Amino acid sequence: MPECVDLRSDTVTKPSPGMRKAMAEAEVGDDVFHEDPSVNRLEEMVAGLYGKEAALYVASGTMANQLAIRAQTHHGDEIIMERTSHPFNSEAGALAALAGVQVNLVDGQQGIMDAEQIRAVVRTANVHHAPTALICLENTHNRGGGSIWPLDKIRAIREVAASTSVPMHLDGARLLNACVATGLNPGDYAQYFDSCTLCLSKGLGAPVGSRVIGSKPFGAQAHRFRKQFGGGMRQAGILAAAGLYALEHNVERLAEDHLNAKRLAQGIADIGGLDVDVNAVVTNILYFHVRQPGLTVPKFLERLRTEGVLMLGTGPNSIRAVTHLDVSKEGIDRALEVLRQVVR
Ligand SMILES: *Cc1c(COP(=O)(O)O)cnc(C)c1O
Repeated sequence: MPECVDLRSDTVTKPSPGMRKAMAEAEVGDDVFHEDPSVNRLEEMVAGLYGKEAALYVASGTMANQLAIRAQTHHGDEIIMERTSHPFNSEAGALAALAGVQVNLVDGQQGIMDAEQIRAVVRTANVHHAPTALICLENTHNRGGGSIWPLDKIRAIREVAASTSVPMHLDGARLLNACVATGLNPGDYAQYFDSCTLCLSKGLGAPVGSRVIGSKPFGAQAHRFRKQFGGGMRQAGILAAAGLYALEHNVERLAEDHLNAKRLAQGIADIGGLDVDVNAVVTNILYFHVRQPGLTVPKFLERLRTEGVLMLGTGPNSIRAVTHLDVSKEGIDRALEVLRQVVR
C-alpha cells in the first residue's frame, strides 16, 4: 500500500528531519518574560516581513485572530467580515465568547468584498447601534477557494476605514501563499492593516504556531490578552525554531503547491461527474463538486479513503482539497487516478 495522499488540509504536514533538528538544537528561555531567544528571533523576522513593530508568538491561528479582535474591540461592539470568513465560521464561537462582539456579515465573491459593501454597513453614531469597531479581511481566503485579494480592493476598503476611523484586521493565515503567487511582499498587504496574522503550521510546515502582528502598543495589548486567554508559553523556542526553519526553507516552495493544485483542478475538470472552476484555483486550495447521481459526498470520500486519498467534505456536493509540502506531483497524479476510478 503506497503512502496515503492527504489533501484534507495543509495543517497535516509533519516536521521534516531538518526542522526536527532545528527544534532539538533551539536556544530557549522564558517567553512570558520575553526571554526566549528563538521566539524573539522569529518575532523580529516576522515583524520585518510584515513591516510592523510587534509579532507575538501564539499557539494557533485562531488565537492570533481572537487576540487581534479582543485587543481592538470592546464587548458589545460590532465587527464587519465576509460571510464565509474563518473567524466567523471556524473558531468555535470565540468572537462571541471571548471578544463579546457581534458580527455584521457581508456577502463577498469568493470571499472578496467591495469597498461600497463595507461603506454601506459601517454604523453611524446612533444610540441604537453597536459601534463598528473593526473590519476584517482574509487573504488568501480559505472558503473562497484560496482566493487572493487584489491590492486595489484592499486600498479602497482602507479608504472607507480611514474615513470612518475604523481599524482593519487581516487574517493572513496563508498570506505567504498570496505573496508567492503574486510576487508581492507581506508588507505590501500589511501596510493597509492595523493587525495581521500568519500561520506557521499550514503550508509552511511547522507543527505548531502562529503570529499576531501589529504596532508596539497593539503588541502590548495582545500580550496581556494572550496571558489572559492562557496562551503564555515558557520555553516556546523549541516550537519557534520550527517556525524559523519554515520561513527559511519553505516559503518559495509554496509555488509547487500552487502548481499541484492547478494540476489537480485541471485533471478534475476532465472527469465526468466532477465539476471544478479551474480558473478559480490560484493558490493551494480547491473546491469541486460531485455531480454523479447516487454518489453522495460521504460515500465518495469513503471510496477515496479506501484507495488512500483523503479529502474533506464541505457541503452537500462540495469537496475541498488542499495541497502542501507533503504532497508531491506524483501524489496528485495518483489522486487523479483514484478520482477517475471512483466516479467510473
Ligand atoms: C487555519 C486558519 C486559521 C487558524 O487556524 P488554527 O487551526 O486555529 O491554527 C485562521 N484563518 C484561516 C483563514 C485559516 O485557514
